Amino acid sequence: MVTIVCDTCKAEARPNTEKRNSHAPWIQGYDLITETPSLMQHAIRMLDRWDERRIAEFGAVHFCSIECKDKYLAKNKAA
Ligand SMILES: [Zn+2]
Repeated sequence: MVTIVCDTCKAEARPNTEKRNSHAPWIQGYDLITETPSLMQHAIRMLDRWDERRIAEFGAVHFCSIECKDKYLAKNKAA
């Protein structure tokens, strides 16, 4: 059983058991943090469609709404 947690508001979803069309689609992306001696950089990339096989991959982030995605980008200054 996979539970997806929104990286901004901590809302939970279980895409394996919930009907996909019963709620707004979640947004999936990657936040790959690169550390250099002078700064820590976020390389955030959003996927254009949900891919369940990538849920548990390194650096994967998930958002329940566009607002949560935008808040995350603003917080990490990587818009
Ligand atoms: Zn959220």
